[in-house]
Amino acid sequence: MTLNAHATVMDDLVVANHILVNEGVLDGFGHISVRDERHPDRFLIARSMAPGLVTAADIVSCDLDGNVHDEQGRKTYVERFIHSEIYRSRPDVKAVIHSHSPAIISFGVTGARLRPICHMSGFLGSQVPVFEIRDAAGDNTDLLIRNQALGKALAKDLGDNAVALLRGHGNVVVGFSIQQVVFRAIYTENNAKLQSDAMRQGNVNFLSDGEVEATSRMNDEHLDRPWEVWKRRAQLFSGV
Ligand code: MN
Repeated sequence: MTLNAHATVMDDLVVANHILVNEGVLDGFGHISVRDERHPDRFLIARSMAPGLVTAADIVSCDLDGNVHDEQGRKTYVERFIHSEIYRSRPDVKAVIHSHSPAIISFGVTGARLRPICHMSGFLGSQVPVFEIRDAAGDNTDLLIRNQALGKALAKDLGDNAVALLRGHGNVVVGFSIQQVVFRAIYTENNAKLQSDAMRQGNVNFLSDGEVEATSRMNDEHLDRPWEVWKRRAQLFSGV
């Protein structure tokens, strides 16, 4: 990877933090990472801080055992094992978002499954898996993915999917680029809102498997267009 390409990834990672706050996916919590192409067994992520305030100086490099390689000895998020174990088990994944985006929470706790309701969210697949932390660690945890074992259990439930819900907590979204994973996180939240509304109105007619495939392909060809709008909006409203 060239120095220039690395600088672009760093810029995109900082902007992605601000976009995700501005679009209602992250708040004071949650995080986005990107695989560090200079060291494929590491990923780049902000130090432990509110994502809306992240600058390039706050990005650290973390290995797949959850150790931060940083001369200043800074730490990243407790839940870094969500990222490390997904990068370990999914070589195709280049970017990961963990959020508590609010509209998805009900789908982890009610038995109603999150499914693709429109052509912007075909990446959800036929249905989205739900990670139940009680199966891995009993019923008295704080629900955080605090260690490698929990990260591995979550990555196993995610499987080959783009999104998994964490019961009573949030979700994880993966992608082949920062632009794709941001698109997916925003439209996961959007789909959850639309699906909750539609379910109140009646039986929902979800995308078919063929529509899931075709719409996913179509959306991946247009990732730059919404990215530029979200970026401009984040810059206008955050002033950074
Ligand atoms: Mn969390």
